[in-house]
Amino acid sequence: MICQGGKPEATVDRTLDSKVFKGWVETDSPWTSDDETDNAKMNYVNLRLNPERYTGYTGDPARRIWDSIYKEKCIKYPSEDMCQEKKALYKLISGLHSSISVHIAYDYLLDKSTDLWGHNLPLLYDRVLKYPERVQNLYFTYLFVLRAVTKATDYLEQAEYNTGNPEEDLKTQSLVKQLLYNHKLRSTCPLPFDEAKLWQGENGPELKQEIQKQFRNISAIMNCVGCEKCLLWGKLQVLGLGTALKILFSVDRENNLNQQFHLQRNDAIALVNLLNKLSESVKFVHEKGPSAEEGIKQLRSSTVQKGAS
Ligand SMILES: Cc1cc2nc3c(=O)[nH]c(=O)nc-3n(C[C@H](O)[C@H](O)[C@H](O)COP(=O)(O)OP(=O)(O)OC[C@H]3O[C@@H](n4cnc5c(N)ncnc54)[C@H](O)[C@@H]3O)c2cc1C
Repeated sequence: MICQGGKPEATVDRTLDSKVFKGWVETDSPWTSDDETDNAKMNYVNLRLNPERYTGYTGDPARRIWDSIYKEKCIKYPSEDMCQEKKALYKLISGLHSSISVHIAYDYLLDKSTDLWGHNLPLLYDRVLKYPERVQNLYFTYLFVLRAVTKATDYLEQAEYNTGNPEEDLKTQSLVKQLLYNHKLRSTCPLPFDEAKLWQGENGPELKQEIQKQFRNISAIMNCVGCEKCLLWGKLQVLGLGTALKILFSVDRENNLNQQFHLQRNDAIALVNLLNKLSESVKFVHEKGPSAEEGIKQLRSSTVQKGAS
């Protein structure tokens, strides 16, 4: 976290509750480029003090990162004959990109002189709503991650939520159960994503390795993000996606989780936070989408008419 973009909005608040960290043992994930066993390289951050929002990270540096991610083995603009798995990888990245843009639009610095923050609906429209594919990919990524979370129900239910604060631990356990056994979610969305259709072809194992490598490269590119807060959320969410892929790749043809399957504490944190971010984005797009779209079209057409008269 050395390369800081310079804007005060982009700096991470490192204040920590003295009880939040107790220590844990990690194993390295094949889906990410970082060595998760090296705790010395890790920083502990209170995410609630660092909401994902506008940071002022714009222009060529930010664009170059997105371009390198999409250029990673040409995942951009998947062609018709590209296999489903590679299309899925493109959609996952595009969906995450949409979600980041939605969060920027949700919590934007509207007036620097008065430190006024609020919704920026034109930005939501210009970066996401105007492109139906980006909205679809946001939903795709949300359902993919939701499926991974439900698939790992047994694991997440039994996991130790140990923060050093017994009250918080009980609350966390209860919230995780509420999420995993949410009746409304289960009845309206019984199979959010059918992973059984993926990774099952003849060359499944090679494809898995190839996609794993591509994803690892994407995770490495994340280290070049030149804004601390964007790096924090970018890496966390990519780890969350890697965890979702790990879960859905660890399923055999009979839909059982592989015996070798392990989630680390950071994987679970990243997965649940990613699901939270994606669901916030879906909610905002769902609530504000239609009115934002209509309002902005009207505003822009009246501006054009005024300009013409
Ligand atoms: C990992 C990462 C995290 C970031 N986090 C933050 C943050 O927390 N706060 C913040 O203010 N800024 C953040 N940024 C910067 C932000 O994402 C934008 O890059 C920046 O606001 C400039 O936006 P832009 O309009 O130039 O287009 P960008 O969002 O940079 O997009 C670049 C190009 O990618 C394509 N594109 C855009 N959206 C999609 C999509 N959904 N699917 C497919 N293609 C797409 C378009 O061709 C677009 O021109 C982050 C950047 C990165 C790389």
